[in-house]
Amino acid sequence: MRSYYIAGNWKMHKTTGEAVALAQALVTELASCKERVMIAPPFTALAAVAEVVKGTNLRLGAQNMGSELQGAHTGEVSALMLRDLGVSAVILGHSERRHSYHEDDALINRKVLLALEQGLEPILCVGETLEEREAGSLESVVGTQVREGLKNVSAAQLPAITIAYEPVWAIGTGKTATPLDADAVHAYIRVVLESLYGAEAARSMCIQYGGSVKPDNVAELMAQPNIDGALVGGAALKVESFGPIANFRA
Ligand code: PEP
Repeated sequence: MRSYYIAGNWKMHKTTGEAVALAQALVTELASCKERVMIAPPFTALAAVAEVVKGTNLRLGAQNMGSELQGAHTGEVSALMLRDLGVSAVILGHSERRHSYHEDDALINRKVLLALEQGLEPILCVGETLEEREAGSLESVVGTQVREGLKNVSAAQLPAITIAYEPVWAIGTGKTATPLDADAVHAYIRVVLESLYGAEAARSMCIQYGGSVKPDNVAELMAQPNIDGALVGGAALKVESFGPIANFRA
């Protein structure tokens, strides 16, 4: 049976108490979920949510991490600290990090390599803005983000990585790429991966789609041959919406 990876990015939402309540509700709701599911609360709630998901089928993720292991980096959180809390995955290169905090491909690549080295599974986010899409540079933008994000990642390390294709214009806007359009970009990402790692590695790579995924569009998106999961923002904040997304095959 095909396997899907559904991840929820809670962004800068939820106090610790609210995060624990949502995590508890999800543990119950998703107890028999068939998919691989990850939730990424804010840093401040990671320790408390780690206690809730321990021993369950929900994996714990972080939304970002520092590019150094430790040292004089005020305000940063390192891979070591995340591992210490029971975090197993980390979202890197989210468009909000790229655009609001000016993270470039070189910095994101450093984080990807460090996460892998420290045993964290990165979700590498890529995606074009509306201007880039309209200018016809979708493939060059996404291709560059994939190539540069994976620089110096070995073929042996590749299975630990997930790529999330998130068209920037579809994030938090209610606009979703049509399933066929999204699938075409995912197929292109596999072409790029094949040029780097060969056909089998490209075929096996888990590529999530992100951008206004909701209970009513998830099944159609997941039915596309090149879409292997979802990275969910707004709809990840409530059990009433994230539950049905993760349980879309129930
Ligand atoms: C995201 O932030 O990764 C995202 C996909 O957000 P939303 O689902 O709200 O569009």
